[in-house]
Amino acid sequence: MAKIFCIANQKGGVGKTTTTVNLAAGLAKVGQRVLMIDLDPQGNATMGSGIDKRQLELTVYDVLLESASVAEARVASETCGYDVLGANRELAGAEVEMVSLERREKRLRTALAPVGAAYDFILIDCPPSLSMLTLNGLCAAHGVIVPMQCEYFALEGLTDLVNTIKQVHANLNKNLQIIGLLRIMFDPRITLQQQVSEQLKGHFGDKVFDTVIPRNVRLAEAPSYGLPGVVFDPAAKGSQAFIAFAQELVDKLPPASAFAPNAAPAP
Ligand code: ADP
Ligand code: MG
Repeated sequence: MAKIFCIANQKGGVGKTTTTVNLAAGLAKVGQRVLMIDLDPQGNATMGSGIDKRQLELTVYDVLLESASVAEARVASETCGYDVLGANRELAGAEVEMVSLERREKRLRTALAPVGAAYDFILIDCPPSLSMLTLNGLCAAHGVIVPMQCEYFALEGLTDLVNTIKQVHANLNKNLQIIGLLRIMFDPRITLQQQVSEQLKGHFGDKVFDTVIPRNVRLAEAPSYGLPGVVFDPAAKGSQAFIAFAQELVDKLPPASAFAPNAAPAP
């Protein structure tokens, strides 16, 4: 059964999409079967996985509105080695269209149940807000991976996210947990970043992943080629770090059975 993780942080531009596509590619490289779900109407994770969002006939929008199944709407990204449930601008309308629907925050969770056995990992790229879309991601997931930059306000922002996760855990999805915090765009030469990094470890202990993703220009260039850095330039420092991160996850996580309950349809 797949382990289902949201990549979330309500701040924009912190590296959610970069983490999602590179972790997906890294996991594929170490032999894992991966489905990447783009829950952001901007469709950056879709484009960044070699899939043209404008050409998609079915997307996660159709899945949320139950006009298509995941099996029908997913596409294989041959170059990247994982499957993609894509998004485009249409998804922005889903928020409003779902308002009157029942179980509206559990639609993705229900839709994923039939494909859970086909993957080792399902990664969900969330938009930078606590919207109904993000809520669907959090309700469908076993855990959250939080990418963050080691900057001055980073810890403050985390408090909000941790509270949100606690609320979802208490009210909607008792399986939800924080898998870990990923330090991204890290520059060890900057003293402040080192200090924030130490503070993070002080606060969150072993919830901070060992792997650190450096600031690396190849990771920033890769999206303009429609690829994750890990595929575009596997030898680049940033790509190597994401492959190491994928391996860290595979090595450290408990077996899939420990995550199983969520794979069943919500009551
Ligand atoms: P989010 O999805 O949280 O909005 P993105 O993943 O789109 O954030 O990243 C924001 C910007 O930072 C993008 O231009 C991306 O290419 C760049 N970026 C992300 N990670 C790195 C990194 N490790 N090194 C350099 N640039 C990065
Ligand atoms: Mg993004």
